[in-house]
Amino acid sequence: MTIANMARLAMPQARPSLPHREATRVGNAPALVDRFGRVHDDLRISVTDRCNLRCVYCMEEDTTFAPHAAILTFEEIVRVASVARGMGIRSVRITGGEPLQRRGIVDLVARVASLGFSDVAMTTNGVGLARFARDLERAGLRRLNVSCDSLRSDRFARIRRRGRLDDVLEAMDAAEVAGLAPLKVNVVLVAGMNDDEIEDFAAFARRTKRIVRFIEFMPLDAGRAWNRDHLVPTEVVLERIASRWPLEPVEPVDQRDPSPAERYRFSDGEGEIGVVPSVTRPFCGTCNRLRLTADGAIRNCLFSDNELSVRDLLRRGGSDAEIAALLRRAVGSKLPGHGINESGFLQPRRSMSMIGG
Ligand code: SAM
Ligand code: SF4
Repeated sequence: MTIANMARLAMPQARPSLPHREATRVGNAPALVDRFGRVHDDLRISVTDRCNLRCVYCMEEDTTFAPHAAILTFEEIVRVASVARGMGIRSVRITGGEPLQRRGIVDLVARVASLGFSDVAMTTNGVGLARFARDLERAGLRRLNVSCDSLRSDRFARIRRRGRLDDVLEAMDAAEVAGLAPLKVNVVLVAGMNDDEIEDFAAFARRTKRIVRFIEFMPLDAGRAWNRDHLVPTEVVLERIASRWPLEPVEPVDQRDPSPAERYRFSDGEGEIGVVPSVTRPFCGTCNRLRLTADGAIRNCLFSDNELSVRDLLRRGGSDAEIAALLRRAVGSKLPGHGINESGFLQPRRSMSMIGG
């Protein structure tokens, strides 16, 4: 991976906390509230650890995948989602690995959507999406994030190691035709690799009205090459875009919006961008997420290795009440923050594609 030398980051600023959401009781099950008052109402479901790409900031070429028997079946995923729904989980994002690589993904989306979540979203690398877009929309998918880290074909191929930019751009068009607009486009910025495209992506957002989200590179790469020199701080992204096209912050209409992105609109009304400052302005204080990995671990944070296996519980005949208790235990042991900016931080054992981004 190319490394550009960037000045060491200033101390991170804490993001101001949003008011905590009112805890709701669902039936007899208390809502998922942690020791710090954070209400958990968003579940990320990873449906596979496999992927058809090998993005340099995520996977290595020689990644080993979990055996099929270790991966949750559709029935198991739906069972966990159903219990979570009863405990106040409102929004779900299907991810991976590459979710479109899971056979029967449309059926799975339909089954999850039928549980009555207010929001069902997916993050995909877009390769192969054109084929699925209409069926996913019909199955109940409401929102889609497509990852795309370069608008230059040769560079796209270098970053993602496989796949073609044109296919991903065509898939974005197909998704919009299928009614999955406005699309969000995830761009992971790595210094010296694609940060010279910040303005190009802003122009792309203005032209297409897709919401480009600039994501800070996090220490979750399988190659463990991350260091602060690779980081493109959100402040730099905003300064560079705003010096060309003035920006105004957008307040979320719904305080319960599950997105960690800070939103900005172009002052001339030509669209919107988002920034996800996971490293330089951590949003842990308002984190509302739980994660279910493809192999059935409940994780309370991307950066915590403290996992609980709901798969083992399911496979020894665990009841819904036991699943609920496990979810509560996971939330109860959540730490106040991810600790990336603390001395002694250790990169988690599992990398992004194994956890589910
Ligand atoms: N394969 C799908 C995709 O690429 O969109 C979904 C899974 S991927 C792990 C989810 C998101 O995590 C993508 O937007 C990807 O760019 C992002 N991601 C992967 N590794 C990352 C890292 N080390 N730091 C920040 N974001 C990362
Ligand atoms: Fe695959 Fe997504 Fe990771 Fe890229 S970011 S290697 S597409 S899982």
